[in-house]
Amino acid sequence: MHAMPIPAQRAEPDAWDTYLAQVQAVAPLLPKALHPYIETLRRPKRSLIVDVPIRMDDGSYAHFEGYRVQHSLSRGPGKGGLRYHPGVTLTEVQALAAWMTVKNAVVGLPYGGAKGGVRVDPKRLSRAELERLTRRYASEIGVLLGPDRDVPAPDVGTNEQVMAWIMDTYSMNMGRTSLGVVTGKPISMGGTLGRSDATGRGVVAIAQRTAQKLGFDLPGARIAIQGFGNVGEAAARLFAEHGAKVVAVQDETGSVHAPGGIDPVALRRHQAEAQRLAGAPGCAPIPNEEFWQVPCDILMPAALEGQLTEARARRVACRMVVEGANGPTTPGADAVLLERDITVVPDVLANAGGVTVSYFEWVQDFSSYFWREEDVNVNLERIVGDAFRHVWELAEERRIPLRTAAYLIGCSRVLEAHATRGLYP
Ligand code: NAD
Repeated sequence: MHAMPIPAQRAEPDAWDTYLAQVQAVAPLLPKALHPYIETLRRPKRSLIVDVPIRMDDGSYAHFEGYRVQHSLSRGPGKGGLRYHPGVTLTEVQALAAWMTVKNAVVGLPYGGAKGGVRVDPKRLSRAELERLTRRYASEIGVLLGPDRDVPAPDVGTNEQVMAWIMDTYSMNMGRTSLGVVTGKPISMGGTLGRSDATGRGVVAIAQRTAQKLGFDLPGARIAIQGFGNVGEAAARLFAEHGAKVVAVQDETGSVHAPGGIDPVALRRHQAEAQRLAGAPGCAPIPNEEFWQVPCDILMPAALEGQLTEARARRVACRMVVEGANGPTTPGADAVLLERDITVVPDVLANAGGVTVSYFEWVQDFSSYFWREEDVNVNLERIVGDAFRHVWELAEERRIPLRTAAYLIGCSRVLEAHATRGLYP
């Protein structure tokens, strides 16, 4: 029997605790008329835990635990990624679903918030095992899925192939092709141009606007990035295209540093060949803890939640933190960064480019009319740019951090929808 170990009850820092602290910070600022509904933000609407048994290539059976959480459906169908990682827990998926609720509202997308996960190390499965795991998981959570019910997308450890298997499994079970049941699909079967770079593109667009407000621009700016996957790699490449210098990168295999700038394309090539960052041309390996004190203008966490801890926040040497990852900054670190006058651009704004282009994909699937990539990118910049302006102006006006301003906008929209729809029955 193969099975992932069940992690100890609550890893520190816990993502759900971080989310609750963020809600707590905004609650007193919400309009009085919405106060009776605040508790709905603290209670995920629906959580499904499933056993995912699969046959391994050697003939044995393995069981994996999977989740799908719909945190809120007040503003529309559930929307949020699917994570395959050995550290996935129910409370982590709850937090990730809740952040999707707030994010979708901040950028004004017609969605609620949802997230899924399976506690598995996908790198330890063969392609055939991964396909069987995905199809069984998709069938188990099928009771929740649907283009107008709940729409997954890629997250850590999943990709467009996994989305294709989910789309096919759901379609087989329904007896008809249903393109809009997932986003982040391959272009050949209902995906959209621009989706794979969308989260990174959104981060760069938001970072550029924030930098201009702080009095600097991207050309020549030094960037340090934790995570070199879908989000981190695309952002590194796009930052470099804007003339910025990527001076440090960390992933789960280690950290590299080059004060003169790293070529992200060469780093990607090296990573694909060597399966690690160390040894890439033009950069030197550094100890992982040193990554956090590399002098830079923009620090971009793009790996997992809880990475920017209070202790690390005291050592960072940057002007702003732009959250590519979901929940990377602990509440303690947020307080330290505020005290140190380091601007934090929150995940619910900074990485919203991904779900924005997922929304475009869903719209294109419904209309069966597909856009040019430049149209996708122009509309992405418009939506995240408008959201940035709104959040920035509110933060200035109320003299509050950007995260609190974003939560004030997002949570107000969610609770207004809840209040307007009324409580059933
Ligand atoms: P990914 O699996 O493609 O990449 C994750 C990266 O993080 C990898 O480079 C991995 O090596 C690194 N990593 C993992 N654990 C680490 C550790 N302990 N220390 C250092 N590096 C570590 O995942 P992704 O899709 O790029 O997602 C990254 C983050 O961005 C997650 O928080 C995710 O929820 C968030 N996000 C993703 C999207 C999207 O469209 N994929 C959208 C919005 C937010």
